[in-house]
Amino acid sequence: MDMSTGELLCSNCGTTYKITLPAPIDMFVAQGKVFTNSHRNCTKTWTPPPKPVVDSSLSMDVRIEWWLARGERGISSNTMLEVITGRMATRQPFGMSHPYDPADFRRCHLLLQAVPELREGFPKLAAHNAVWAALVEHWDELTALLLEQMKTNKANGMYQRMKQLGC
Ligand SMILES: [Zn+2]
Repeated sequence: MDMSTGELLCSNCGTTYKITLPAPIDMFVAQGKVFTNSHRNCTKTWTPPPKPVVDSSLSMDVRIEWWLARGERGISSNTMLEVITGRMATRQPFGMSHPYDPADFRRCHLLLQAVPELREGFPKLAAHNAVWAALVEHWDELTALLLEQMKTNKANGMYQRMKQLGC
């Protein structure tokens, strides 16, 4: 369920239902339950749309624009862009931060996939503070853990590893 829009989506048949917001929380939960129950045994006919991928032949600037407009962004991935390129990712300064958990790291990973050139700026990131320095040093290790976790959908110690590194 997308909590921000109140849209329910059945991952079997692809049916959507929009809860009118704002709604009292118990109404919200009740409608979610009814939806889940009524779609418990429906046939798997739907596959999720592929995640948007940017054309890697486009210029770096265009890919950064794409990421700013369509990428999955969070404070840590914004920080990554800002520290490496000097380019503000937000109009309002939201503060800078390193990733705190695998979800944050994933958004940093996605930015790097869209704009691999940013890797050349990792020394700048490492110079930013000690946590980023540890992350940069162990980036490949963490990426491997992330990819495994995304594949298996199971925790594999990545969170604990990040905490060990100071996140
Ligand atoms: Zn369904």
